[in-house]
Amino acid sequence: PPRIRRLEESVVNRIAAGEVIQRPSSAVKELVENSIDAGASTVSVTVKDGGLKLIQVSDDGHGIRCEDLPILCERHTTSKLSAYEDLQTIKSMGFRGEALASMTYVGHVTVTTITEGQLHGYRVSYRDGVMENDPKPCAAVKGTQVMVSLQLCIVFALLDMYCDFYKKKNLNMQVENLFYNMVARRKTLQNSNDDYPKIVDFISRFAVHHINVNFSCRKHGANRADVHSGSTSSRLDAIRNVYGASVVRDLMEIQVSDENAVDEIFKMDGFISNANYVAKKTTMILFINDRLVDCTSLKRATEFVYSAILPQASKPFIYMSINLPPEHVDVNIHPTKKEVSLLNQERIIEKIKDAIEEKLMNCNNTRIFQTQALNSSALTQANTRKDKGTEVSTPTGEKSQKIPVSQMVRTDPRDPSGRLHTYWQGQTSNLEKKSGLVAVRNIVRSRRNPKDAGDLSSRHELVTEIDYNLHPGLFDIVKNCTYVGVADEVFALIQHNTLLYLVNVVNVSKELMYQQALCRFGNFNAIQLSEPAPLLELLTMALKDDESMSDVNEKEKLEIAEVNTEILKENAEMINEYFSIHIDQGGNLTRLPVVLDQYTPDMDRLPEFMLTLGNDIAWDVEKECFRTAAAAIGNFYALHPPILPNPSGKGIRLYKKNKDSMESAGQADNDLTSTDEDDIDQELLAEAEAAWAQREWTIQHVLFPSMRLFLKPPKSMATDGTFVQIASLDKLYKIFERC
Ligand code: ADP
Ligand code: MG
Repeated sequence: PPRIRRLEESVVNRIAAGEVIQRPSSAVKELVENSIDAGASTVSVTVKDGGLKLIQVSDDGHGIRCEDLPILCERHTTSKLSAYEDLQTIKSMGFRGEALASMTYVGHVTVTTITEGQLHGYRVSYRDGVMENDPKPCAAVKGTQVMVSLQLCIVFALLDMYCDFYKKKNLNMQVENLFYNMVARRKTLQNSNDDYPKIVDFISRFAVHHINVNFSCRKHGANRADVHSGSTSSRLDAIRNVYGASVVRDLMEIQVSDENAVDEIFKMDGFISNANYVAKKTTMILFINDRLVDCTSLKRATEFVYSAILPQASKPFIYMSINLPPEHVDVNIHPTKKEVSLLNQERIIEKIKDAIEEKLMNCNNTRIFQTQALNSSALTQANTRKDKGTEVSTPTGEKSQKIPVSQMVRTDPRDPSGRLHTYWQGQTSNLEKKSGLVAVRNIVRSRRNPKDAGDLSSRHELVTEIDYNLHPGLFDIVKNCTYVGVADEVFALIQHNTLLYLVNVVNVSKELMYQQALCRFGNFNAIQLSEPAPLLELLTMALKDDESMSDVNEKEKLEIAEVNTEILKENAEMINEYFSIHIDQGGNLTRLPVVLDQYTPDMDRLPEFMLTLGNDIAWDVEKECFRTAAAAIGNFYALHPPILPNPSGKGIRLYKKNKDSMESAGQADNDLTSTDEDDIDQELLAEAEAAWAQREWTIQHVLFPSMRLFLKPPKSMATDGTFVQIASLDKLYKIFERC
C-alpha cells in the first residue's frame, strides 16, 4: 500500500482556502461582510479583471488596532467569537476568522487601517498568513481598506496537483466528480471577466438589505459605478436605486409572522413582484438574520406559487428578510456560510408560501380589471426593457447570471407550446366565473334536495385522492418542462432542466382527462353531435370489434347490446347532469362533454366508449360510479394513436392497394423506394397523414400546455414507465470533457 504522509501545512491551508475563496466573488463577499461587521456606513468596491487582478474594498468602519495587525491574517483569528457557545447567538456575519487568512494563501493582501482618535493609520501586506513587513505608518481616512490580488499561478498549481494525484489513482465515482470540479473551476477562473456580474449582483443584494449603508461597486479605472446606492430610510428607495423604477412599480409588500406559536417565532417581511412584472429569471434576495443566504427549497416553493397562480406570468422578483431567534439557525453548515439550516424549515416555508399565494390571488383579481386598458401591459413591458437598456449593470439582466455550460439548456419551458398561455388564461377566467355560478347553483340545489350534497362529497373524495397521490417530482417536471417533439407512436420527448425524458402520451393524457372529468363534474360544455347516434348500433359495432367476444354469436351480441342500451337509458339523466353525456328518449347519443377546451376525442373510439359505459360502470355505488365513469371518459378522450396505422417510413406499405402483390414480393421490406405511386391508396393515405399530423399538433399545442396547467401526476407514474429519463446533459458533458 502507498505510504501515508502528513501534508505540508501550506498545502493544508491552501486546500482550506479553496473552500472559502472559491472564486473572486466569494472574496468580495467576505470583505464586504467584514466592512458591515465593522459598522461601516460607506462601502466601496473596485474590481480589476473580474477580481482576478485586484479587489479593493474600502469602508469607514471602526478600523483595526495596530497591535492586532500581526495576527490579522492568521487562520482562526477573529474579534467576533471567543467561546463555542457564542456561536448560538452570533449576530456578526463573520466568526470563523478564516476569510482574510484564506485570501493570503491564494493571493497577496494589503491592509490600510486607522482607528478612531489616531493621528495616522498603518499599512501592512500579508502572504501565506503572515506579515511581510512591520506595519508602516501612513496617512489614512476613517476605516479600513483591503486590497487583494489573487495569484492565479498558486490556484492553478493547486488544481494541477489535485489532478495529477487523482489521475494516478483508480478513479471511483466520487473522486471523479471532485476531479471534474477542479477542471471546471480552472476553466471558469481563466475566463477572467466571468465574476464581475456576480460581484455586482452581491453588492446589489447587500444594498437592498442594508439600506443605511452607502454601497458602490465599479470596475477599476471606470468613472461610473455600476451599483450606487445612496443610504436611504426606505426599502423601496433602495430597490429603486439598484434595480430601477420599473421593478419597484410592480412590487407588493408582504409580511408574515408566526409569533403566536409557542415553539417557534419567526418574522418575514419583504417585497414581491405582482402579475405585471416581467423577467426571464427569478431574482431572489434572501436574508436570514441579516445574512445573505440561498435557500433552494424556499426559492422553489415561491416559484411554484407564481407559476401556479399566474401561469402565464414571468419569473418573480423577491426580497425577503427572515428573522428567527439566533439559536434556531445553524450558520455553521457551509464554509462560506452561504447556506444555513433552520429549525422548522418546512413550516416556515409553508407559511410564507401561503402568504404569497394570498397576495397573488388578490393581485390577480385586480389585474383582470387592469387588462381592460389594453395597452397598459404592453407599456409596462416596453418600460422594463428600456430601463434594462440604460442600466447595463442591472443584476436582473439576463447576461449577468452565468450558468455553467454543463447546465445550459437551449429552450425556455414557456416556449413554444407555452405561447398558448395567453389563450388559456382567458379560458380559465371564464371557467372561474362559471364555477362561481355553479357553486351558487349547487348551494341552492342542495337546499332543495339534500341528497345532492352527498353526491358532491364522493366526488370531492375522488378529487382529494388525486391530490394525495400527487408525485411532487413529476409535478415539477410537468410544470416546467419544455416539449421537444414526438418520439414514436406512444412517446413524446420532453426536457426538464438538463434532463431528457420520454413521456407516454397515452398514459398522461388518460390521467389528465380523468382528472379533468372530475374537476369539471356537473359543469361541462357540450359537443353536439351532427347527427344523433343510435346507441344500439354503436354497441353492436363495438361488440363486433371486441376480440374477447369472438366466440359469442350474433344473436347473443344483439341481446347484450339491447341490455346495455336499456341500462344507459335508465341512467341517462344522471350521466347527462354530471358528465354532460346526453342520450335522448329514443336511445340516441346526441351530446358529449368538452373535457379539454379545443379538443374533441377520436370518434372512431365512440362505440368502444359506449360499451365501456354500458358494461363497466358500477351504477349502484356512488363513488365507484363516478370513478369508473370518469375513467371511461379518460380512456375515450386520451390521445391514443389513430386507428389508421402511421404511414410514415415503412408504414406506407400498408396503404398499397394491391396488398397481395406486396406480400408475395417478399423483399418489400428492403425495397421502400420501389413503392409505386399509383399503387398507393391516396385517399386513405391522405386521411392517415392528416390524422397523425393532427395528433402531433394536439400533443404539442393542447395536451402539453394543459398538462402544465392541470395535471397532477400520480406517484405510480414514476415507476410504471410513463416517465422515463433517457439522458442527462451533466453526464454527457462529463463524458465529452474527458474525450
Ligand atoms: P471573521 O470575519 O470571521 O472574524 P476575517 O478573517 O474575515 O474573520 O477577519 C478577521 C478579523 O479582522 C475580524 O474579526 C475583524 O476583527 C478584523 N477585520 C477584518 N476586516 C475588517 C474591517 N474591514 N474593519 C475592521 N475590522 C476588520
Ligand atoms: Mg469575515
